[in-house]
Amino acid sequence: MTVRVGIGYDLHALVEGRPLVLGGVEVPYGRGLRGHSDADVLTHAVIDALLGAAALGTIGEHFPDTDPRFAGVSSLALLDETMRLVGAAGYRVVNVDSVVTAQEPRLRAHLGTMALTLAGRLGVDASCVGVKATSPEGLGAMGRREGIAAQAVAVLETRE
Ligand code: MG
Repeated sequence: MTVRVGIGYDLHALVEGRPLVLGGVEVPYGRGLRGHSDADVLTHAVIDALLGAAALGTIGEHFPDTDPRFAGVSSLALLDETMRLVGAAGYRVVNVDSVVTAQEPRLRAHLGTMALTLAGRLGVDASCVGVKATSPEGLGAMGRREGIAAQAVAVLETRE
């Protein structure tokens, strides 16, 4: 059996007039993330971790922000397509871990729902998906509430 690990990172700006979607969950907040899709920064980091583990390229290559098909699309749909690619390459998910860096809003109450939502799309039990949140302690762009960032790692194994 072959085991592969991948890493993903993403960052989007916070703007007025957009819903805030993280891990497929809409989080109540006065602003949301700017982007071509729903700008779900956590799901984007998970997608890049999965693609990286399978050496299948990047989210930008598979889902370019110049393609009108992906305008306003739920990033969970992009995750579904990513899982199709990962499966076609002969891999399945062992586990995923992730961390969201956000000064606001407080995310703790939503982390379990995000993990459950992502696990359903990844084809694994919720116990195989970690979603954490950390405060940037007021430092830098994230600390100034200009954006939200996410990092993820994914472990894949070859299917029997
Ligand atoms: Mg992104």
